[in-house]
Amino acid sequence: MPVKVAEEWLNSCSGCEIAILNLGETLLEVLPHLEFVHIPVLMDHKYFGQTGAGDTHHIDIPKATVGIITGGIRNQEHLEIAAAMRQACDVIIALGTCATHGGIPALINQWHNEELFERYYRTSETTDAHDTPSDPVLPACLDRSYALDEKIKVDIYLPGCPPHPDWIGEAILALLEGRPPQLPMKSVCDTCPTIKMGKGNLKHMNRFTRNAHYDPSKPVSEMHCLLEQGLQCMGPVTRGGCAGKHGEAPRCILARVPCQGCFGPVQQEGNQLLDYLNALASNKVDIKSITEKSTLLEFSGAHGLLRPKAARSR
Ligand code: SF4
Ligand code: SF4
Ligand code: SF4
Repeated sequence: MPVKVAEEWLNSCSGCEIAILNLGETLLEVLPHLEFVHIPVLMDHKYFGQTGAGDTHHIDIPKATVGIITGGIRNQEHLEIAAAMRQACDVIIALGTCATHGGIPALINQWHNEELFERYYRTSETTDAHDTPSDPVLPACLDRSYALDEKIKVDIYLPGCPPHPDWIGEAILALLEGRPPQLPMKSVCDTCPTIKMGKGNLKHMNRFTRNAHYDPSKPVSEMHCLLEQGLQCMGPVTRGGCAGKHGEAPRCILARVPCQGCFGPVQQEGNQLLDYLNALASNKVDIKSITEKSTLLEFSGAHGLLRPKAARSR
């Protein structure tokens, strides 16, 4: 009997769905054992009955063993779909950093809704001023962007923007085989082959003000650690795994640019901003040299970590 799978995308960009398709040969291996009963990115399935003419107050998601959800929760519609998925599925996988920690969309948590609507609908340079649309044109926004587990129970967390297909495949195979998935739990630094000099030399950070020093003719393993070069590399406070099971180095490091933290904190409940500042301060680095500290929560601003500042002037 194939395992029934339901998939939903909430406050997301669909990059995580592309990562599912990027499973490649693993997808061919697992597909005969899966039956997708609901997956809006691939097949038409109406929320309110197959003709769309059913009970318009009850979201109808077919029963499934596994529910995969990408994206966080920003509005009432997301909230209702997430609740319906939780009710319909035995196991819920939060796929991607938007689902596990808010991801890029949670950057909006630095502003109140009123500020957002004013900027978007009335003071934007490129659009005519307009009233803020209301439900049903625009589902009612919640007060901020939430990670999935702030609103429904999550069973498996698969962070990444997007997660590497190797780990999506591992999670699906583990579920099929009835065992816990073996997912990376170390930091990006733990998977990084660059040369480390040790503590003490770094005093200031130079975020994006200059390029890394490296010899393009040499492998990444002969480049010095970017953080020790004074670049704001978030490898120490970011969960590893972006290189997949057999990658040479973390994806950004391979491109000779610092890690931006897209896999979220090393521990699910970690705080990348606090962890990073603590790590630097304990190594006597001047943390005032980090000018925009909120960028340390670029991918993990849900769970109440990014909050609105006092009213802004533009
Ligand atoms: S985690 Fe990244 S790839 Fe996935 S939906 Fe969010 S922004 Fe897109
Ligand atoms: S700080 Fe960056 S460059 Fe240095 S080891 Fe960690 S991931 Fe690699
Ligand atoms: S190096 Fe960091 S930012 Fe780049 S893909 Fe890996 S986890 Fe994401």
